[in-house]
Amino acid sequence: MSAGKSDSVLPVMGGDKVLSPGRGLALSCGLVQTGMGRMSTYNQPLGGNEMARFGGPATMMRLPAQPTAAGLDVAFIGIPMDIGTSNRSGTRHGPRQIRDESRMLRPFNMATGAAPFEHLQVADIGDVPINTFDLKKSVDIITDYYNGVLAHGAIPLTLGGDHTLTWPILRAIKARHGPVALIHVDAHADINDTMFGEKVAHGCPFRRAWEDGCLINEKVFQIGLRGTGYSPDDFDWGRKNGWTVVQAEECWHKSLKPLMADIRAQIGDAPVYLSYDIDSLDPAFAPGTGTVEPGGLTIWQGLEIVRGCAGLNLVGGDLVEVSPPYDPSGNTALVGANLLYEMLCVLPGVPQGRQVG
Ligand code: MN
Ligand code: MN
Repeated sequence: MSAGKSDSVLPVMGGDKVLSPGRGLALSCGLVQTGMGRMSTYNQPLGGNEMARFGGPATMMRLPAQPTAAGLDVAFIGIPMDIGTSNRSGTRHGPRQIRDESRMLRPFNMATGAAPFEHLQVADIGDVPINTFDLKKSVDIITDYYNGVLAHGAIPLTLGGDHTLTWPILRAIKARHGPVALIHVDAHADINDTMFGEKVAHGCPFRRAWEDGCLINEKVFQIGLRGTGYSPDDFDWGRKNGWTVVQAEECWHKSLKPLMADIRAQIGDAPVYLSYDIDSLDPAFAPGTGTVEPGGLTIWQGLEIVRGCAGLNLVGGDLVEVSPPYDPSGNTALVGANLLYEMLCVLPGVPQGRQVG
């Protein structure tokens, strides 16, 4: 299939010529022709033959925007925050650059056969209005916001933003689903009790989530951890609580498909949250982040991890720590946008049509 053919236009039957993303509540729009030639009532990303890739709405995948999660199966949400970072800042610009670099994404997954926009109603509901002068207030703002999203029955996929944000999301997830399994992909464990004496920081979210009873301890998996530490306990604290910690060196030179098969078997049908810190990838692939550690995962291992979540009862996911000032090329954000799309492709209700590789 040519690139042009896969970028089909999206005519609306009996209505306007095209479905206009950004029009607000798009749920009442008529049938649209999907990129696969079928008719669908679901929102579709704006195709590259209808509007040049560098134009159109600056939403995730150039999807319709709407102000709330009402009527959605999945909501893309930005959290423009970096006031929890400990080293290089800049992740406040992450959501906007991820959305920008998502403009090349087409609707059909050529590797897995997933066609998420034929099965799920998806939109971009904008950014959480954090208080950029107060991190402690911001985490409460985030929890309140996600309580609202989850009340609509939507699955949140979050564009970060520093990793502090996962704790307040998990508080809302627990209120809705109870304790969840966790797949946490990161160079760092993020289980510090405090940083500089503070309980709220991007190195502490999973310690706080554990304290709040958000996690099923025997179903917590941390993948990609590496680098220098203060003591062995940096990684062993989770192990002592029953968590599985897979350090980056255990992943080198390997396919991670067997690891993911093992993780799926251990998680079973429990609700699962996927938190993906872009710094899990080697800085050769993703330099645009704040706390860089060499020796990381490859992009194809990252894809294997996310694609390996197919079949799990995913109830939410995030892609955090993209810091645009450290990668003016936009490639880090582009990788992040693709990983978020891959998360969408493995959500419950999306059939996996085939597997290449
Ligand atoms: Mn992290
Ligand atoms: Mn990290």
